[in-house]
Amino acid sequence: MEDIVLNVSDVNKSFGGLRALSNINLQIEQGRTHAVIGPNGAGKSTLLNVCVGRLPPDTGSVVFDGQVLTGRQPYEINQLGVARVFQTPDIFLDLTVVQNVEIAALAKRDGAFKFRPFKSMFKDRELTGEAEHMLEDVGLLRMKDEHTGNLSRGDKRRLELAMCLIQHPRLLLLDEPTAGMSRHDTNRTIDLLKRIKERGMTKVIIEHDMHVVFSLADWITVLAQGTIIAEGTPDDIRGNPKVQEAYLGG
Ligand code: ADP
Ligand code: MG
Repeated sequence: MEDIVLNVSDVNKSFGGLRALSNINLQIEQGRTHAVIGPNGAGKSTLLNVCVGRLPPDTGSVVFDGQVLTGRQPYEINQLGVARVFQTPDIFLDLTVVQNVEIAALAKRDGAFKFRPFKSMFKDRELTGEAEHMLEDVGLLRMKDEHTGNLSRGDKRRLELAMCLIQHPRLLLLDEPTAGMSRHDTNRTIDLLKRIKERGMTKVIIEHDMHVVFSLADWITVLAQGTIIAEGTPDDIRGNPKVQEAYLGG
């Protein structure tokens, strides 16, 4: 069992009368790129939100690296080594690009935001150097002093990835990392995520775009209407009639 990084057990979550997640059991193995796919409304984002402490499950538990995450605050889960990219970017639009990356590193180091004057936060030369290195990694270095609000949607997603990478997480959760990107930007993001894989980081990718899923995933879980309808390698999933039905009939 020691190669299981994340263990989701018997998770249920309802919104009023709607069962968004029914008895979800899921194991994420060390070093894998594990995709969670499924039609719109299947419960993918809800599952991710339960894992990172943004939503409490009604029943069940999530264990990361032997530690129970259920009931913990998102910042605590982040400090334990879980980084995430949400469907809507979670960035400070009034700061520069490099400052956002520095903030992500400080959040991991110090936990819940201790408010201090922004000016004093950005005086750590070593931190700035590391943040620039991460921006280079995601292809955003030339934008480092831009006002973040001016970035394109694709560049904001790349910035979020740099913010995750500076935290050196053990587990990276991505909710539709290429949503809204051009084909060119999508391919650049796929290349970047492949490079991260070579470093051994475990990833969970929630994704709609099958091109992205089949380029990256080595294991796939298929959700439909809050339940897992199939699991397996990309080849297993590609040929699975239940999966085709869920997509076409959904
Ligand atoms: P996916 O990410 O697979 O598209 P979601 O997890 O966002 O699906 O949503 C699953 C279902 O739960 C949908 O029917 C959605 O409308 C519903 N849902 C999600 N979040 C909420 C919420 N905060 N309140 C009420 N219903 C929600
Ligand atoms: Mg979603």
